[in-house]
Amino acid sequence: MRYVIGLGGNAIIGKGSLARICRYAAELYRSGNDVMIVHGNGPEVGALSSLENKSLAILTAQTQAEIGIEISDKIDSFLGVKSAQKAAIVITRVVVKEHDSEFTNPSKPIGRFLSKGEAIRLKERGFCIKKLIHGYRRVVPSPMPLDIVELKQIEDLLDSKHIVIAAGGGGISVFKTKYGFGLANAVVDKDYTSSLLAIKTRADRLVLLTNVDGAFVNFASKESRLIREVSSSELRALVKAGHFEKGSMLPKVMACLNFTEKTGKIAVIGNLSRPERVFREKMGTVIVPV
Ligand code: ADP
Ligand code: MG
Repeated sequence: MRYVIGLGGNAIIGKGSLARICRYAAELYRSGNDVMIVHGNGPEVGALSSLENKSLAILTAQTQAEIGIEISDKIDSFLGVKSAQKAAIVITRVVVKEHDSEFTNPSKPIGRFLSKGEAIRLKERGFCIKKLIHGYRRVVPSPMPLDIVELKQIEDLLDSKHIVIAAGGGGISVFKTKYGFGLANAVVDKDYTSSLLAIKTRADRLVLLTNVDGAFVNFASKESRLIREVSSSELRALVKAGHFEKGSMLPKVMACLNFTEKTGKIAVIGNLSRPERVFREKMGTVIVPV
């Protein structure tokens, strides 16, 4: 089987969970599967962007290297010395539309939650701040990824039996120019990039691991309920009814719908603390075609 694993930015903060996922990815690989990992970078890119006045594309490139090396080291150490350096990091660009509406109406939360005072101060400095279910966060443009520039390199690495860590943080966002690519000051949601990568590489499963047990209806209310198995058409109806928050769970749900509807294959959203149960579909939200 060929897997694309989308790894929530929060997993990288809780070091224990990152090790657990890397061990599981190593096991999947050892039992003959192709494995690609797309990690998030929300907390890191948020922290960097408040320190450095660089384009979000450049900051994403930085986090691809930093988080990538952490993941590849852990995977290689679980695989042991004989098969060392099986995990390969691809610094990956994704193409976005230069005039995407996200550039005028940003939606993606990055960085940590802010106190009301911090939110007001950052707003005064020109940052876009929004109030979400759990508090205030900075939001930045998050256009849809249309293409993966390094797709061929990723496929070549899979063919030569590497575990591929690619498109970290959703990929370095670029737009097409006359001569090549220009950097876009944006952060692409890694859930959408995971889905695009899974479709382009003809993966059998898209698994999005995050810090909750899956997609809930009536989230953060008394009637909150985990969706365990759902058809893509039922899930579309729940999207319409507004159950999933923009910028956090909605991209995961839409990414899974896109994958399932285009490929006829299963996608799963589950808790990164129990990867083995999520992969066996014993936990999490399992999205099936139709
Ligand atoms: P990741 O780093 O894994 O991408 P996100 O913060 O982007 O994590 O998305 C996961 C978050 O989505 C959860 O922590 C939860 O607060 C939020 N969320 C919003 N709506 C829902 C929902 N309907 N079901 C589950 N989680 C939801
Ligand atoms: Mg997210």
